[in-house]
Amino acid sequence: MKQSMTLIPTLREVPADAEVKSHQLLLRAGFMRQNSSGIYSYLPLGRQVLQKIEAIVREEMDGAGAVELLMPALQQAELWQESGRWYTYGPELMRMKDRHQRDFALGATHEEVITSLVRDEVKSYKRLPLTLYQIQTKFRDEKRPRFGLLRGREFIMKDAYSFHANQESLDEVYNKLFTAYSNIFRRCGLNFRAVIADSGAMGGKDTHEFMVLSDIGEDTIAYSDTSDYAANIEMAPVTATYQKADEPYRELEKVHTENQKSIEEVSSYLKVSPESCIKSLLFRIDEKLVLVLVRGDHEVNDIKLKNLFNAGTVDLATPEETKAAMNCAVGSLGPIGSGDNIEIVADHAVRAVVNGVCGANQEDFHFVNVNSDRDFSHVKFEDLRFIQEGDPSPDGEGTIKFAMGIEVGHVFKLGTRYSEAMQATFLDENGRTQPMIMGCYGIGVSRTLAAVAEQFNDEKGLVWPANLAPFQLHIIPVNIKDEIQSSLASELYSSLKVSGYEVLFDDRQERPGVKFADSDLIGIPVRITVGKRAAEGIVEMKIRKTGEVLELHKDELPAVIE
Ligand code: ATP
Ligand code: MG
Ligand code: MG
Ligand code: MG
Repeated sequence: MKQSMTLIPTLREVPADAEVKSHQLLLRAGFMRQNSSGIYSYLPLGRQVLQKIEAIVREEMDGAGAVELLMPALQQAELWQESGRWYTYGPELMRMKDRHQRDFALGATHEEVITSLVRDEVKSYKRLPLTLYQIQTKFRDEKRPRFGLLRGREFIMKDAYSFHANQESLDEVYNKLFTAYSNIFRRCGLNFRAVIADSGAMGGKDTHEFMVLSDIGEDTIAYSDTSDYAANIEMAPVTATYQKADEPYRELEKVHTENQKSIEEVSSYLKVSPESCIKSLLFRIDEKLVLVLVRGDHEVNDIKLKNLFNAGTVDLATPEETKAAMNCAVGSLGPIGSGDNIEIVADHAVRAVVNGVCGANQEDFHFVNVNSDRDFSHVKFEDLRFIQEGDPSPDGEGTIKFAMGIEVGHVFKLGTRYSEAMQATFLDENGRTQPMIMGCYGIGVSRTLAAVAEQFNDEKGLVWPANLAPFQLHIIPVNIKDEIQSSLASELYSSLKVSGYEVLFDDRQERPGVKFADSDLIGIPVRITVGKRAAEGIVEMKIRKTGEVLELHKDELPAVIE
């Protein structure tokens, strides 16, 4: 590609409000431009890198047995109403009406569309398992779009969905895709870890996130310094101490439960987005279970939540609200005896500590007309201690360390969350109707591009790994007006292109200083400078990463570049 013919608008200054390296450099090196908040154009160089990442993603997905398709971004509300997420997804879902006043959403994700597609087309166990994926633009009206491509409102995702007749089949495909994801991020040169994640909004069991270790990451990872153990801090086991008035501190033992569906019911009842609001942590103390509801999002519906759990302000809790809380607790516990006690502790960001003691039997609760002294005990929230650096790792190997992570991928065993809600069923071997068991698997393709830029740069600009670089070679004649230099540079450009290299040719009439600075900023792995010794056929080759410089004859180039 001739630089005079393409669009690489480089900038000398660091753009205001670009806080992180990848954002600054992708703008400065002319890979992208902002259109509006969280919305970007990928310029030719940016698009080139995107395509390289996409090629790796496709290779690994295809290799794992997934098949590509392409679904609509514009989605009718009816599907989201069927799954229930029209009501629970919250303001991140971009909603709109068509000219007939019918509701639509711009796809934030595609569980609904794919579930409706597969339910209509697949009826028998003989057609399962089936794994489909797409690479497509997604829309999420993020509250805080930031860091350029890392958190956009319009971004590119690879999303895959698998459908199964039984759990073993899901486990098998999940493991295959887990490996494919590891391959993808390894091939992108990223320093990443797969971590145990929180099943949050999606409702389901096993889930892992792929986290690129980076100081600017928004998630905290707790990992063992000697073993493979790693967890998103949201899911990392918590050691908690707990104190009631007049009682000594006690250690709480964390109980793992997986039933998030009931959490979803509660949040749906509260009209808060389960994704952003509620996480449950369950502890055992003596014979009692303590359910801690942790809110991630401070602004949504504070009052309602406060009402639901506010001990002492009895009239705030209606029977329905209490029941929802009980469902939540009981659902998380699984089967429990009716005599058991559950204690609910809710934390909001404001750290208003509220709690109540309820019987496990849903009808036997004490929220209504309670006597605060009799029915509530006060727990200091500050006493809850989340896992900390230096703690022994939960797998017994090594010590916990913390790191910040950028979530580039997420794999998830959905179970029957969508197939039940949307009646995606099949006939099993015995002719019985069963809901399909599902998995979903996402990769932030545009976020991965930014994560690579974040990891591969120096004070002069971007430093692309060879397999993701927008071009492999950058040819720069020092003085394009010099006949000899210009013709040798053109000759090399043509012959190297013919040999199959991707070459960027700086044929602009710019000062050498400008060309070299741009070249460093863009970060193509190998630069070939054609200068004073062009007459002898001698050129200079410079490795962007190491700064290493070699003078060599043009005929030696192909061998050396290999
Ligand atoms: P986050 O926690 O960062 O908000 P998420 O958990 O909401 O991400 P998923 O629903 O798991 O995201 O989507 C799959 C992948 O899509 C994520 O792992 C991430 O790489 C990417 N992604 C999600 N939101 C964005 C965004 N706003 N901009 C760019 N990429 C995103
Ligand atoms: Mg999100
Ligand atoms: Mg996330
Ligand atoms: Mg996620």
